[in-house]
Amino acid sequence: MPIQNWECPYCGHAQTVTDNKFDDRYSIIRAGDKHDEYFAIGRLAIICSNEECRKLYLHLTLNSRNSRDEVREDPIVTWQLLPNGIAKPQPSYIPQVLISDYNEACLIINNSPKASATLARRCIQGIIRDFFGISKSRLIDEINELRKQVESKQIVEITGEVIEAIDHVREIGNIGAHMEKDVNVIIDVEIDEAQILIELIETLFEDLYVARYKRQERLRKLKAVADNKDAAKKSAASAAAGGSAPPPQP
Ligand SMILES: [Zn+2]
Repeated sequence: MPIQNWECPYCGHAQTVTDNKFDDRYSIIRAGDKHDEYFAIGRLAIICSNEECRKLYLHLTLNSRNSRDEVREDPIVTWQLLPNGIAKPQPSYIPQVLISDYNEACLIINNSPKASATLARRCIQGIIRDFFGISKSRLIDEINELRKQVESKQIVEITGEVIEAIDHVREIGNIGAHMEKDVNVIIDVEIDEAQILIELIETLFEDLYVARYKRQERLRKLKAVADNKDAAKKSAASAAAGGSAPPPQP
């Protein structure tokens, strides 16, 4: 049975996974005797059908079974192995140090939302420092400086929406109160609060780095087209001046 409407977590490509593109089965664990619980390991492996991606998705489960090897469908434990955690793939033109803080914040969010939020705040500070060159001792001072520069049009690359997104997050629970402390102070947060910080990082990556890259690419292409036209004009002009002979007639 093909898997309908599967969305690749690496590239976001939605697809119907055909039989030759996935492997979904249980393997029976044979250990212990009849007084013990019986287990099986379930695995789902999928290769993305997007030609530019073709990455391996791998998900494992531990399930109980009965003595006749009949596996109970709802798992005891699940492991999302590949991709690791909830991190979305990020382009390589974003500084590696920011990506690694982001990846790690995603990786540990379930086991330690506190540590995840700490890394996420450090990542947000890193973005403001790297992208805008604003560096102060506290994150809140950096955000205020950023707002000032956007309002006074010293920074024109972004709109007030980015500031609004940061402000919106500041209004949430403990995160807001602790934005005023040093980013290395560990704060008590719930998973959903840590999740919101991660989403803010994704928004900032997209609205700042990705948007800037696309803008630069557009300009680069425009320039290439203009340069080509220019070169064509020049060679036409030199041909008209008798620079090259017409091809011989057969
Ligand atoms: Zn993919």
